[in-house]
Amino acid sequence: MNTKLVLIDETQREEEIQKALWEAADILRKGGLVAFPTETVYGLGANALDEKAAGKIYAAKGRPSDNPLIAHISCMEELRPLTAKIPEIGIRLAERFWPGPLTMVFLKSDRVPYGTTGGLDTVAVRMPEREEARRLIAMAGVPVAAPSANLSGRPSPTTAQHVWQDLNGRIEMILDGGPVGIGLESTIVDVSGERPVLLRPGAVTLEMLEEVVGKVEVDPAISGIPGEDVRPKAPGMKYRHYAPRAEMVLVEGEIKAVVDKINSLVKSREEEGCTAGIICTEETRRQYWRGIVRSVGKRSQEETIAHNLFAVLREFDDLGVDYIYSESFSQDHLGYAIMNRMKKAAGYRRISV
Ligand code: AMP
Ligand code: MG
Repeated sequence: MNTKLVLIDETQREEEIQKALWEAADILRKGGLVAFPTETVYGLGANALDEKAAGKIYAAKGRPSDNPLIAHISCMEELRPLTAKIPEIGIRLAERFWPGPLTMVFLKSDRVPYGTTGGLDTVAVRMPEREEARRLIAMAGVPVAAPSANLSGRPSPTTAQHVWQDLNGRIEMILDGGPVGIGLESTIVDVSGERPVLLRPGAVTLEMLEEVVGKVEVDPAISGIPGEDVRPKAPGMKYRHYAPRAEMVLVEGEIKAVVDKINSLVKSREEEGCTAGIICTEETRRQYWRGIVRSVGKRSQEETIAHNLFAVLREFDDLGVDYIYSESFSQDHLGYAIMNRMKKAAGYRRISV
């Protein structure tokens, strides 16, 4: 299959963008696949109500079929037909955070096929903030199932080039809207039960959710290594997502000691004839004197770290490094989501100094 790559960023005229969105919407209506930018990461879209179309997403990504898809909508009116019941807290969260990087899990209606929900009786729904994404969904006239547009097991794509690397030849079209804003996947909260439960941390933080609905439980699988005893409620969280090819290790502790430890680890690896990458920050980058050093952003501005993290992991894949040693970050606010992705990328390997 020939994959068409079309620019819809700010360099394009409105008529060009409109034309590209219509073409993409037409592909979606006919049961095809289109990758498009949202504010979180690039999504791989298909008609969420068409089991066959949703099935193509699993095939293109190599995604396990028990890992359900998030249905994206363009306005509130599109929510009701997908759900059997909308609890009051769901409405409050939607009023506060939609459109935006929050996914909510509801009991599904009969219209949503099990092929979209991975066989579950619930459906995950999000209204993205990125305007072109909502325009595309509205033009398609159907809810759009859209997981991250990467091959399963690779870091989520934050640019159209990342999508091209993974899915060229496997999907009909990629809409290139430039780099995304946030860079981490959406927060997922389950509102289908008695109490809201956080299933995946993201840019809408636990603190922000609790401000609106009071106490939110946290799925124990978020903090631990998924295993036999803790089965994550978001099936996708059990897979070793976001994984770079290299063996990655997080180094934790007081920052000066962390820098010293990473320098000495990289030295020993290089003496063994291996290559090592370092994930650091603007504040520390000049303190490393070996290895391939990449700053992910500023400690003082966590959103820069979220924005760059996946691109840096992909770059280390492209460079083919054998090891990645990374600084760690605070687990507060957005740091909770950042560290969740980093721990997964590192396969939970860490060293405390
Ligand atoms: P992705 O879109 O690639 O970020 O993956 C979607 C995530 O949402 C996966 O971790 C899924 O397991 C999770 N998810 C989707 N639908 C549901 C659902 N009905 N219940 C719980 N988690 C869900
Ligand atoms: Mg994903």
